[in-house]
Amino acid sequence: MIIVHCPNTFFQERKYVLEYVLQMRLGLIVDIVESEKVDEYKCICTNTAKHVVFPDYFWTRVNVSHLNTYLSGQFLPQNISVFEKSGLKYPLYELSFSDSWSMSVRNQKDDEISWDWISVIFFMLTRWEEFVNNQTDKHNRFDGKFSLAYTSGVLHLPIVDFCIENLRILLEKHLGIFTRLTSSFSILPTHDIDNLYRWSGVGTWFKEIVGDIVVRKSIKTAKSTFRAGLQVSATGRDPYYTLELYLQMAAEQKLKAVFNLMVDKLCPYDDADYTAFLHMIIQMLKHKKQIVGLHASYLAGQNREVFLHEVKKMEMYQGEEFGARSHYLRTRVPEFMQWCHDAGITWDSSLFYASIGGFRCGTCHPFPYFNFVTSTQLSVFEWPLLIMDTTWVEHQQLTVESALQEAIRLKRLVRELRGQLNILWHNTSWNSDTYKPYRVKLLFRKVRKPLCLLFSNGSILEALFTPKPKEYSSQMKFKIFAKTHIIATLFETNNF
Ligand SMILES: [Zn+2]
Repeated sequence: MIIVHCPNTFFQERKYVLEYVLQMRLGLIVDIVESEKVDEYKCICTNTAKHVVFPDYFWTRVNVSHLNTYLSGQFLPQNISVFEKSGLKYPLYELSFSDSWSMSVRNQKDDEISWDWISVIFFMLTRWEEFVNNQTDKHNRFDGKFSLAYTSGVLHLPIVDFCIENLRILLEKHLGIFTRLTSSFSILPTHDIDNLYRWSGVGTWFKEIVGDIVVRKSIKTAKSTFRAGLQVSATGRDPYYTLELYLQMAAEQKLKAVFNLMVDKLCPYDDADYTAFLHMIIQMLKHKKQIVGLHASYLAGQNREVFLHEVKKMEMYQGEEFGARSHYLRTRVPEFMQWCHDAGITWDSSLFYASIGGFRCGTCHPFPYFNFVTSTQLSVFEWPLLIMDTTWVEHQQLTVESALQEAIRLKRLVRELRGQLNILWHNTSWNSDTYKPYRVKLLFRKVRKPLCLLFSNGSILEALFTPKPKEYSSQMKFKIFAKTHIIATLFETNNF
């Protein structure tokens, strides 16, 4: 057993990190003890009688200021600093303050492990920075380009996981113990179904053509929409309808995929053209052993009452525990996570910056969330999102080649750290000409040929490395503009 003597101020915050890292990630049995008059963490191994001490450079700073909260601008770090230690696999990361207090305290500690990993992990996992530094975009989301991780040049790295891997080595060396691997690499394909069809009827098709001419002022686009509609009518292939394809890919790769479904359309930012068939869609997904989540509407992402109402609605269809992801990723911390906890939601998967990819929480591992306003660990887990189609293509405007390199980099990192590669690829972009070259179909594949398993850039790689899935079942002879028929046929084909 490891006994950790821990300062008694901000005890719940410190205990949260210590338990998460030592117990959940490193598989150790730990007892966290509140100790008065200590300002650092003393970890004692009862089996080997060895001990190791880690400093606290953050909450001690709050204590000396005689304030009882760190949730203000004056305690925002200036930087996330990086330093190297020999014998460790990754660099060390720490919250950095450039004032004299910080320097003088640091200079007193010159032993090998004068490294405050606890406050940087707390900072990244809880995202309390986003509560204090309220820089938002037009959707009232925290803008990732103002995050300390981004300005410090580490947003693209899972620094929490790097810290934990380093800590594993340090603890084994200094305490003479063996830690236990508690996770393995996995891929989690997720699909937020904003719209099941591009056109739900002749009316919406006509409306889009008018919009092309009047709003977008493009006869060319209008012609293209007209032709596409005719093609859908002739072939029965609506470009947004990829449900069967996604199910087929998940089955081929023996993966469970997450399908986040909307239950309400409350404002122009919501689409949700399928709510009348929600029950049937959920039953079908559950029959296929997939994970169904709530795609909280645009308003629900930032309104407690609306969110709880949508949860209640989903409960009527779902009948078992489920998680959530907010539409437009409008989740604000800690309130959205608290609402999830209050509603009995078991996971959230919204913590990703829509405008800039990377590790918003510094990790590729699911983790229990801590409400830093109430100082309470919640029952909801965060499943950090790592790849989103619209971020790479629309916001960052990566070329196909650079997106491919980024996907390879992420997959290698996550595999190395035994984490969860959580990917969001919208059904609405799957068949879009813009997105087709970026498809991550091969990301869903098990490891076979490391350099060839990521992207399907057109048909050549598809033909080489994967049997091309039938995009539409031959039995799915659905006709555009007849949704009831579509769903009925879908269920016939799945033996309902
Ligand atoms: Zn959405």
